[in-house]
Amino acid sequence: MVGRLCRKAGVPFVLDACQSVGQLPLDVAELKCDILVGTGRKFLRGPRGTASVYLDSHVLEKVVPTPNDRRPLFAAIQDEPPSARLPESREASIAARLGLGRAAEYALELGIEDIRGRLQTLADGMRLHLADIRGVELYGRGKQASGIVTFSVREKMAVQVKEHLAVDGINLSTVPLPPLKPDAVLQETPATPSTAVRASVHCYNTEAEIDRLASALRRLVSRVN
Ligand SMILES: *Cc1c(COP(=O)(O)O)cnc(C)c1O
Repeated sequence: MVGRLCRKAGVPFVLDACQSVGQLPLDVAELKCDILVGTGRKFLRGPRGTASVYLDSHVLEKVVPTPNDRRPLFAAIQDEPPSARLPESREASIAARLGLGRAAEYALELGIEDIRGRLQTLADGMRLHLADIRGVELYGRGKQASGIVTFSVREKMAVQVKEHLAVDGINLSTVPLPPLKPDAVLQETPATPSTAVRASVHCYNTEAEIDRLASALRRLVSRVN
């Protein structure tokens, strides 16, 4: 939809797919994006500090990377026709790149559709569990929900929830919530949380682990402070 509108208007469409690469099938032709970037370290489970970029052939000649290591850059620029090696023209960690390649192969071996299905099953199961716990509020229940489940716990700050569950070996992260009003002053209190908790699943997670998370949250909610 966005891609079609951009093509029609002649506007370049740069898609940041950092949360989607490795989680969902992505078809650049269908998305009609000119540039798609993805990090290696999230759902692709590649090394930190790696990323990939897709450049549609018609944007290649318009992309001018800032040179800092001139020799390989010139080698890439001299490619005829210009190639997607252009953004790879700097010095880099070769081991990390090899790791990224292996992570991509591994995801393809498992099958992106199967990964998506497994994540959906686990995350939907988690959402069902959490929706059942009084005092837990779920966010972002879209039509096609992802493997990232965002929630808050009444009267608890996100960081408290994270630290409490870490004791049980359950790793969560915290994310800022969009302010209710654009100019709102964000002050984190248990009653007005400005951050939420995020639980992300991958295909190696199990239903038993989701049960464990739900039980830990139930215990936390029922705890009297
Ligand atoms: C994580 C993320 C990034 C940055 O990825 P890095 O691995 O830190 O470079 C950019 N955009 C979105 C949407 C992300 O989720």
